[in-house]
Amino acid sequence: MAFASVQKNGGVAITPRTVMRVERPLSVNSGHNTSTGSGGGSNNKPVAGAGAGAGAAVSAPVRPKSASPSSSTAYHRRSSSGSVGKNGFDTTAVPNRVRVAVRLRPRNAEELVADADFADCVEIQPELKRLKLRKNNWDCETYQFDEVLTETASQKRVYEVVAKPVVESVLEGYNGTVMAYGQTGTGKTFTLGKLGEEDCSDRGIMVRAMEDILADIKPGEDTVTVSYLQLYMESVQDLLAPERDNIAITEDPRTGDVSVPGATQVQLQDQSSFVRLLDVGEANRFAANTKLNTESSRSHAILLVQVKKTVRTKPGDRELIVLNENGNGSSQLVKGIRAPTIRRSKLLIVDLAGSERVDKSGLEGHTLEEAKSINLSLTALGKCINALAENSPHVPIRDSKLTRMLRDSFGGTARTSLVVTIGPSPQHRGETASTIMFGQRAMKVENMVKLKEEFDYKSLCRRLEAELDRLVAENERQVKAREDTEDDSARSLEEARQSVFEAERKLASALEKEMAEAVEKHQKDLMEQVQKHQRELADALAARQQEHAHRERLEKQLASQQQELAHCEKHKKDNVNSAQPQHHQRELVEHNSEIMGLRLSLEKECQKREHLEQELRAVKSEASRKSLNGNLQKQSDELLTMRQRLEDELKERERLEEEIRSLKEHIVLLSDEGDEQARRMIEKGGSERSSIGSESPRVSMSKPNHMRDTINGQRATIAKLFEQVGLHKILSLLESEDVDVRVHAVKVVANLAAEEANQEKIVEAGGLGSLLNLLQSSEDETIRRVAAGAVANLAMNETNQELIMAQGGIGLLAQTADDAEDPQTLRMVAGAIANLCGNDKLQIKLREEGGIRALLGMVRSCHPDVLAQVARGIANFAKCESRGAAQGYKTGRSLLIDDGALPWIVANANNDASPIRRHIELALCHLAQHEVNAKDLVAGGALWELVRISRECSREDIRNLAQRTLNASGTFQSELRRLHLVY
Ligand code: ADP
Ligand code: MG
Repeated sequence: MAFASVQKNGGVAITPRTVMRVERPLSVNSGHNTSTGSGGGSNNKPVAGAGAGAGAAVSAPVRPKSASPSSSTAYHRRSSSGSVGKNGFDTTAVPNRVRVAVRLRPRNAEELVADADFADCVEIQPELKRLKLRKNNWDCETYQFDEVLTETASQKRVYEVVAKPVVESVLEGYNGTVMAYGQTGTGKTFTLGKLGEEDCSDRGIMVRAMEDILADIKPGEDTVTVSYLQLYMESVQDLLAPERDNIAITEDPRTGDVSVPGATQVQLQDQSSFVRLLDVGEANRFAANTKLNTESSRSHAILLVQVKKTVRTKPGDRELIVLNENGNGSSQLVKGIRAPTIRRSKLLIVDLAGSERVDKSGLEGHTLEEAKSINLSLTALGKCINALAENSPHVPIRDSKLTRMLRDSFGGTARTSLVVTIGPSPQHRGETASTIMFGQRAMKVENMVKLKEEFDYKSLCRRLEAELDRLVAENERQVKAREDTEDDSARSLEEARQSVFEAERKLASALEKEMAEAVEKHQKDLMEQVQKHQRELADALAARQQEHAHRERLEKQLASQQQELAHCEKHKKDNVNSAQPQHHQRELVEHNSEIMGLRLSLEKECQKREHLEQELRAVKSEASRKSLNGNLQKQSDELLTMRQRLEDELKERERLEEEIRSLKEHIVLLSDEGDEQARRMIEKGGSERSSIGSESPRVSMSKPNHMRDTINGQRATIAKLFEQVGLHKILSLLESEDVDVRVHAVKVVANLAAEEANQEKIVEAGGLGSLLNLLQSSEDETIRRVAAGAVANLAMNETNQELIMAQGGIGLLAQTADDAEDPQTLRMVAGAIANLCGNDKLQIKLREEGGIRALLGMVRSCHPDVLAQVARGIANFAKCESRGAAQGYKTGRSLLIDDGALPWIVANANNDASPIRRHIELALCHLAQHEVNAKDLVAGGALWELVRISRECSREDIRNLAQRTLNASGTFQSELRRLHLVY
């Protein structure tokens, strides 16, 4: 027959570091009252006789006496009770009395016949958990048990009442014992060992207990092993391996744990295996007894079930911590590592031999000694229980193998449940009484149940070693990987260094080469440029020297011609040789042109030279930046030399320029005279045209008197000389490409235009058109200024005024007025318009083409010269209007007022500058003469100015004019009256 696994090992091994933990107190038959002994005395006297009908009162529960300290042989329950172990673990044990149930077997067939006339010797009171034992027909004794099971009690109920609490306790980690005690044939084996193969309801405690155990454990994790032993005549036999006889019982000297290392231990996987195992065991028991010529009732059958469970920590459970003891005895907490907790518990199910006396059993073939031996264990058990029940200081535990085996079951740490079986037959009343008394005494035995829990250090050690190995391997891998990485990094670094070094080397050589090439190229270019510019400079110098010589020659000629001219002037009356000065003047003009050309070329040379210098500086700085060597230094020296020569050239050029400038000034002096003349003409025109006259505007140019005298002396002569040159040629110069030429030409024309005699000629020659064209197109401020001055000169002539208007001159002048900022230009333009304003015929057109607005727009300049011309123009315009009104062809309001001139007129009527003030005073008087303007004048505040003029004006004629005007105007008069000003 094969079992799942059969092994021999060292039995139940409890490690030295067993940790006890308090669990909930056990209670067998919870909900039932605790037992009461009989009479509460140690003599186990029964409860007061029921025969007296004394209410079958049950005395108060008799608590077992507290155990007193025992000897070394006593059970350790006493010394460890409530204590705390040195490692700080709770080793508290909980008192737990041996629970005892009594089971009454139904009458069997034999008894039914034999005892048919007799009543049962016992009476069961299950509701009171009492049993009455009849002494005789009139006397009985009552006993209290933890449970009283009637003859009809089912196997299931018996299991649940007697064994199940113990089994559950075993599954929780406590040792447990279920034992049956009683006379042979009372049902011990029936209660414990019935397999129930025919009727499952017959299954006994063993089968049912194993069912519960197997249902609870976790396969593969928890283990259940079973040994099945027989104890007969102090010999332990292995019912699973009958050949093993006389197996030794060992005890752990420290913990007292008992084991049977020589017994077969079968690890169970399922219930059917267990049933087969029990079957085998029973068969072997029967065979052994036959061989020994005895009955099974004479031997004790012991089923030893060992349960090993691994505890899973659940939330809320107390944490188990492994303590690590070091050498000096102190403890060190090893946190985070928790040893697995294992609970190793044992369940003993003991089917004792019949409790009847041997001599009464009728055994044959055994000697008395043998009979003594047969009963030895049972007798010893009775003694131990008596000792324990009576708290005897000595418990003869070692007197038999049974008591040694049951050491933990009575007075130990196990939860023990005893079922005493009795029969109903009065024939066996004595045995029944004896059995009952055994049960009563057993009820007084108190155990101290303890959890059989331990740390699985071996498992922990294995786990730690595995973890250590894993960490070591991991560490080795990491170290190796780091070393490899470092090697790679070092290699990469070295390669990077090499490549950087190589790149630097290549870059350096490329730079060196490039630099050398650049330097060489620069040197070459420089040399070429220097040579080229040297040549050009030399050429330019030679040309300039020639020109200089030529100019000197011309100047000498000019000087002599001037002398001759002076001479000619002096002897003008003689009209001698007039052709010669004209000839000289022509030459002068030509030379002037040449000088201008020369100047232009010189400036170009100057620009070239500066450009060359810049290049030289750039090359030099480039050369110095690159730190060129000796060749560059040499080159630099050459450049310095060249620069020195260039500077010499520059000095020479400046000297030449100075000469040219002096010559030019001379010429300009002559041409400026035209400009000046224009201004003078403007001023002259203003005064000439004024019917009343005004002070001459001051002359802005400040030339030395001696110079002016010279110029004045030369002016007429020059005009004549220009005539000889030809007006057309001069006018053609107005369109010259050269700005300077145009400037000088326009000045000459302006100079000519200052002379009334020339004006017609100029206009005839198309000069007016050219001048207007310059006004329109020239970018040069001077040209526009002088051209405007020339136009102003021409505008003194009435015919020319019409021509100017016809050619759109007023529009161009207005445009120039808008664009110009230079006060002198504005002055010229304002002068020109002012002249035009004096023409009666042109008033409407002039106003329509923006002349008045242009005039008024120029007051933005604020320059007194400009304002004076504006005032003059307004005065001229007002005068013409006044004249028109007087003649009857001007009827409407003044156009000046229409164009918004009145506010400015009023604001400047008392201007500090007398030319402005005089012209405005005149203008106001002219405007006031026309009654149609009177209301506007009053509204604009002009009345007060007229009053002021009439009273304060320094010029009498104007003062009188104002007075007349005020008196003549009804509007003024009524206003003055309204203001209570008697005038
Ligand atoms: P023991 O083991 O105490 O010597 P057994 O268990 O062998 O006694 O029982 C003797 C006989 O009595 C058996 O035939 C058994 O079937 C029967 N028996 C015992 N107890 C009961 C019971 N409670 N109900 C029915 N039959 C019983
Ligand atoms: Mg039996």
